[in-house]
Amino acid sequence: MDTTPDLNKPTEKPTGVYSLEVREVRHYTERLFFFRTERPVEFRFRSGEFVMIGLPPEIQGSKTVWRAYSIASPAWEEHLDFYSIKVPGGPLTSKLLGIEPSDHVWMRKKPTGTLVHDALIAGEHLFLLCTGTGIAPFASIIRDPETYEKFEKVYLIHTCRERGELQYGYDLVDEIRNHEILAEIVGDKLVHCATTTREESERTGRMTDLMRSGQLYDELGIKPLNSQTDRVMICGSMAMLQDSKTLCENAGLKEGSNSMPGEFVIERAFVG
Ligand SMILES: Cc1cc2nc3c(=O)[nH]c(=O)nc-3n(C[C@H](O)[C@H](O)[C@H](O)COP(=O)(O)OP(=O)(O)OC[C@H]3O[C@@H](n4cnc5c(N)ncnc54)[C@H](O)[C@@H]3O)c2cc1C
Repeated sequence: MDTTPDLNKPTEKPTGVYSLEVREVRHYTERLFFFRTERPVEFRFRSGEFVMIGLPPEIQGSKTVWRAYSIASPAWEEHLDFYSIKVPGGPLTSKLLGIEPSDHVWMRKKPTGTLVHDALIAGEHLFLLCTGTGIAPFASIIRDPETYEKFEKVYLIHTCRERGELQYGYDLVDEIRNHEILAEIVGDKLVHCATTTREESERTGRMTDLMRSGQLYDELGIKPLNSQTDRVMICGSMAMLQDSKTLCENAGLKEGSNSMPGEFVIERAFVG
């Protein structure tokens, strides 16, 4: 008897998993794309959390491969946004990059993560430090009104290799400035600072180098990190996390978590 699964036949999804219809897909560069799905009415999460995403076997072409994804939309939105890398030959993303509206992606029902307001103690300024797709959780945080209730200023600092990779961040900030409700809530509290490392741009260099040298603070007209007033969320590559963590610790900030809120929090944007 032939036991090969028929991959053209829609597969029954496992329990604890939503099957979400894709509503929109936008390709930013050869390495980056955005997709939006429907949101189940009962699904709750905190802005900044991540979930596990997979594809049904008929799209994956084999057993479902689960990967962590930050939800890039805020907790109040009616849809769910994701911002994704395209890894050549990557088990999930080499298939995920081909999704189109009306396809379905699978999402495990339990969100989690440390890049949430609950993990930080009160402060005046919130620094959101990210590289590459590490901007995804902050795409959620910068569109959450709670962020502006808690902080007087929010600095979104994003480093990518090339200029085209910064576009998603620019689009987010434009969206906020043109949003009928958020524009007023956010006002001039959000400051966006984008840098590139492999291509000339308005600001060139790694954010951590620019912070260490003081150049970034000078250009923004602000004081260096200070544990009394500043809180930091960090999401990026392992090297960037380590550098940013050192910057925070040298400024006297203590790491926080959901169970023990602190002055800065960290999440890896990917493993490896
Ligand atoms: C907590 C958490 C949240 C995450 N959120 C996101 C997200 O919002 N968007 C997203 O695209 N990815 C995110 N990732 C990474 C994601 O889980 C997958 O690794 C990614 O989708 C690639 O999957 P893959 O199976 O194609 O390749 P994998 O086998 O998972 O990865 C292969 C290699 O590609 C590189 N890589 C993987 N992801 C990235 C990335 N995002 N940026 C740069 N290089 C990478 C690494 O070197 C990795 O070893 C997150 C990871 C973690 C741990």
